[in-house]
Amino acid sequence: MPKPLCSSCGLCSIKKWPSTESLQSCVFNTGWLGEHETALFGRERDPLDPEESRFGITSSRFVARLRTAVPDAQWSGIITRLAEKALNSKLVEGVVTLHRHEEDFFHPIPVLAGSEKDILKAKGSIPVLSPVLRSLEEAHSKGLKRLLVIGAACHIHALRDFHRRFDYLRNMEIYTIGIPCVDNANEKKWPWILERISKSPATARHIEFMPDYRVHVKHLDGHIEKIPFFSLPEELTNPEIFPHSCLSCFDYLNGLADITVGYLAAPFKNRSKLQWVLVRTEKGSVLNNLIADELETFPESGEWECFKFVAASAKSSAESMKCQKKEFRTTRKIPVAAGHLISEFLFRTGPRGVGFAHFSVDHHLIKHYYFVKFNYPQHLERLVPPHVYTILEEYGLEP
Ligand SMILES: Cc1cc2nc3c(=O)[nH]c(=O)nc-3n(C[C@H](O)[C@H](O)[C@H](O)COP(=O)(O)OP(=O)(O)OC[C@H]3O[C@@H](n4cnc5c(N)ncnc54)[C@H](O)[C@@H]3O)c2cc1C
Ligand code: SF4
Ligand code: SF4
Repeated sequence: MPKPLCSSCGLCSIKKWPSTESLQSCVFNTGWLGEHETALFGRERDPLDPEESRFGITSSRFVARLRTAVPDAQWSGIITRLAEKALNSKLVEGVVTLHRHEEDFFHPIPVLAGSEKDILKAKGSIPVLSPVLRSLEEAHSKGLKRLLVIGAACHIHALRDFHRRFDYLRNMEIYTIGIPCVDNANEKKWPWILERISKSPATARHIEFMPDYRVHVKHLDGHIEKIPFFSLPEELTNPEIFPHSCLSCFDYLNGLADITVGYLAAPFKNRSKLQWVLVRTEKGSVLNNLIADELETFPESGEWECFKFVAASAKSSAESMKCQKKEFRTTRKIPVAAGHLISEFLFRTGPRGVGFAHFSVDHHLIKHYYFVKFNYPQHLERLVPPHVYTILEEYGLEP
C-alpha cells in the first residue's frame, strides 16, 4: 500500500476548524490546476500554447533584480521587499510565511509576520517541506482582514480552495506570492541528503540547483562550493529519498499565485542575482507596482527550443520512477573533474533563459507523470492536469 500523499502544507493541523474540512481542500484530494485555474482566471491554461502550457497564465513575465539587493536573501530579495512594502503600505495587515529555528538553520517555523523585522527574518529558502499554512489560524484568530501568504504551489492550491469552499477566511482579502518549487525534501531526510552533496554540511546556508548544471552551496564564510549534477553520489538519484508528494507535483511554477518570483528563466551569470517574475493576476500587478521603481528589469531571453535535451533522457527518467528496490551505489556517478567538463559543455551548448525553464518544467513533468502512473495509478485522473498529456505527446511518450 503506497504512503498517503502529504506535503505537510500545515492546513489540516489547524485546530480552529475541523481537520476534515481542511482535508477537503488538500491538493492531493482536489488535484493540480484544472478547475482551480478556472476558478481563479475563468479558464484553464491553453494546452496548445507552448509557453502558457508550461509557465501558466500570466499578464506579464520579465527578468528583474532589486537595484539594492536585500542582504542574505535567496537572490536579490524581491519577495522580501514585496512583503515589506505590502505591510508598510498597509495593503496587508500580516504576512503568512516562515522563520528558521535559531539553532537548526533548516528547520522551518510557520509565522504570521506583523513587522518589518519579522519579514526580514523570513528571507532565504528552506529546502524542506514546510507547514506555512498553519499560521492562517493566528491570522483568523486576530480577525485580520487583509493578508499576504508566501508559499509553494501546494500551499497556494490548498489556500485558494479553502478560501472558496469554506466561510472561515471568507472576509479576508488574500494576496499571494508564489515560489517555484521542485525536488523538495523531507526535513528528517535533509541532513542525510546534504551530507552527500556538500563537503561541509554544517556550514551550508544556501543551496540551489543552478542552470550551469551544478549545485551551488554557499557557506557561512561566503565561499561557494560547486558540485556538478553528474558527480553527485548515485544514491541521490533514488526517487525513494524524495517525498512522494513532491514526485506527484504538477505545478513547478506556482500557477495559482498572484505573482511568482523565481530565477529559472533568468540569464545565469555568477552573482548577478537576476530573477524571473511572472505576474498572473490583478493583485499580482498591485504587488509588483509596489516595488516597480526599485527594480531593474529586462526582457526574457534564450531560445525556446529544447526538445533534444528533454528527449535524450525522457525514457530513462520515466523508467527510473518505477521505484524498484534496486541498490544505489554510494560512490559518485562520475568523478568531479569530468562532471565539471560535462556541466560546462551542457551550459555552453544547452538551453538558456526561457529554453532552460522549458527544459526543466518538461523534464520534471515527465518524471512526475510516470511516478504517479507507476506508484499511484488510482490518483492519475485526479492529480494530472490536461496540459500534461499534450506535452507527453510532443515527446512521443505513452500516457
Ligand atoms: C525547495 C525549493 C525549491 C526551489 N526551486 C526553485 C527552482 O527550481 N527554480 C526557481 O526559479 N526557484 C526555485 N525556488 C525559489 C527560489 O529559491 C527563491 O525562493 C525565489 O527565487 C525568490 O528569491 P528571493 O531572493 O526573492 O527570495 P527571498 O526574499 O529570500 O524570500 C524567500 C521567501 O520564500 C519563503 N520560503 C523559503 N523556503 C520556503 C519553503 N520551503 N516553502 C515555502 N516558502 C518558503 C521564505 O520564508 C521567504 O518569504 C525554490 C525554493 C524552494 C524552497
Ligand atoms: S498536504 Fe496539507 S492538507 Fe494535505 S494532508 Fe498534508 S498537511 Fe493536510
Ligand atoms: S515540490 Fe510541489 S508538493 Fe513539494 S513542496 Fe514544492 S510545491 Fe509542494
